[in-house]
Amino acid sequence: MIIEHCLVCFSELMPQMGWTALFSKEESNFMCTECYTKFEKIEGVTCQTCDRPLARVEPQYIVDNRCLDCIRWEADDQWAGTLERNYSLIQYNDFAQEVIAQYKYRGDYMLAYIFAPLIKQKLRSIPFDTIVPIPLSEKRLYERGFNQSEALIAASGYQPNNLLTRTHSEKQSKKSRTERIHLRQVFQTKINIPNKKILLIDDIYTTGSTIRHAAKVLKDAGAGSIASLTIARG
Ligand SMILES: [Zn+2]
Ligand SMILES: [Zn+2]
Repeated sequence: MIIEHCLVCFSELMPQMGWTALFSKEESNFMCTECYTKFEKIEGVTCQTCDRPLARVEPQYIVDNRCLDCIRWEADDQWAGTLERNYSLIQYNDFAQEVIAQYKYRGDYMLAYIFAPLIKQKLRSIPFDTIVPIPLSEKRLYERGFNQSEALIAASGYQPNNLLTRTHSEKQSKKSRTERIHLRQVFQTKINIPNKKILLIDDIYTTGSTIRHAAKVLKDAGAGSIASLTIARG
């Protein structure tokens, strides 16, 4: 696929100057260097569970290279061991927020391709047997036209394994932490996948609640371990 203009700002792409050229020579370019530099890659020491850069966490909220949020999840018997590890690619800064909104709310499906090179590169270092997208409800899927997580997997050249379905609405972000943790399960699976290493894909990791609810359903269905890869870390 040859794209001549940056999918975000529409400026003309110079051959081999797009951001993907910085990662992999064999990739096509979908985004200009200027846009690329507005993304802040996740780097340095990060929480060993959720990938939050620890430089952004107050020292009193860090224990053994883990952030207090993750420690609290692990201290809860219901949730301990559910999510092995989250990996994120970039910070959820203003630019990332804008691009992700353009992608999932304004239906710009092609933007999946600007993340694909980063996803592919990251997947080389994550062990997994199968990749599972976080599902949308049927209503959301109808409104948006595509599932952004599934599109990210497909754009990266992998086969999405739709093991999960939604049972409730997606409006989790407006609830308090306690409400989120004790919320009735929002996902279900009909498939038993004993001992498999599952990698969940979603666009943003904010509280970790969505990912953990999904992970719990799969774990309860016999999955061996569950990790997640999210584009942005909120
Ligand atoms: Zn651009
Ligand atoms: Zn953490």
